[in-house]
Amino acid sequence: MMKHQIPATPNNYALWYLYVDDQNPELTAAIDEVINQYNTVPSTSSEQLYRNHIAKQNELDIEDTRLCLEAMATELSQTMFDTGSNASAFQSSIENNFARLHRIEEDGMPFDQVMGVVRSLIDDAASIRQNTDFFHAQLDKAKAEIENLKSQLKETAKDALFDALTGILNRRAFEADFKALLDSQPQGLCLILGDIDHFKVFNDNYGHLLGDQVLKIVAKRLNESCRDGIRAYRVGGEEFAIICPKSNLRTARHLAESIRRAVEKLSIKDRRSQQTIDNITCSFGIAEYNPVSQSIALIEAADKQLYEAKRLGRNRVMPIVN
Ligand code: GH3
Ligand code: MG
Ligand code: MG
Repeated sequence: MMKHQIPATPNNYALWYLYVDDQNPELTAAIDEVINQYNTVPSTSSEQLYRNHIAKQNELDIEDTRLCLEAMATELSQTMFDTGSNASAFQSSIENNFARLHRIEEDGMPFDQVMGVVRSLIDDAASIRQNTDFFHAQLDKAKAEIENLKSQLKETAKDALFDALTGILNRRAFEADFKALLDSQPQGLCLILGDIDHFKVFNDNYGHLLGDQVLKIVAKRLNESCRDGIRAYRVGGEEFAIICPKSNLRTARHLAESIRRAVEKLSIKDRRSQQTIDNITCSFGIAEYNPVSQSIALIEAADKQLYEAKRLGRNRVMPIVN
């Protein structure tokens, strides 16, 4: 990466890690081709290569990549440590020079010649000092870079699970959690799907920015209603999911109903028109796990109930449980 002056970003590290490790022959060939052409890898090509060869795999297994990158960081740290230890080689060179000085003294050289040797020794020492300083600076730079990389990786991992707009868990997190719960403790697992009613109208009447504001407060309210292992996710544009482990239809309905009422009370002010928007409502559909149904069936069942809630006039929770 240094040779080709590739910027040290997490994506580039991932790219070059795979290149060096030759794990992906297609990617290796593609990078070689770009290098042949440009004698480096321009950032636009890096982005393209990353998207074509890594991004998809990354999405499937971000953890794997994180481990790769951490290994890379550790390796870099080790390399810089080795470089630093070269400094001790200079130390022995200094000692050699002193031994030479001693010999000159014993052989009885003329004073000005001795001074010449001393001067060159001083010059040597100065350049050794300069080199050592340079190595230390390099080492510090690499350390800072590693720290930076690590925190960027943390952010990347965070981005992978949280929705950028609302800050609540995203669809990827939903899929992971839902599958994990289905595999480990499916009994009593309930799924609530929520969808903001006539959301398009907010966008159309007040603009996308206000639409985004609506999404944010609804998501916040949903998130605040979650406790005891219950979690809320933004799974689509104005669609949300709430997973209730170890629950039942009645309890889940009770939760959805309380959220529905809380959403109904929300209001925001449109700065442009100075109008207060207080007609935000949400419809909900719920389904409970049953041993014969698969995960898709549970989602489909909740979706069907949501559709029913919409059909019956919106701003309601379905099914009705006695
Ligand atoms: P319904 O009650 O049947 O759910 O009607 P709706 O208008 O809520 O549903 P529809 O699916 O017709 O519209 C959803 C709209 O959500 C369309 C899309 O432009 C908008 N949308 C999706 N994601 C975002 C976003 O991140 N921000 C904003 N402002 N709008 C979004
Ligand atoms: Mg929708
Ligand atoms: Mg909607």
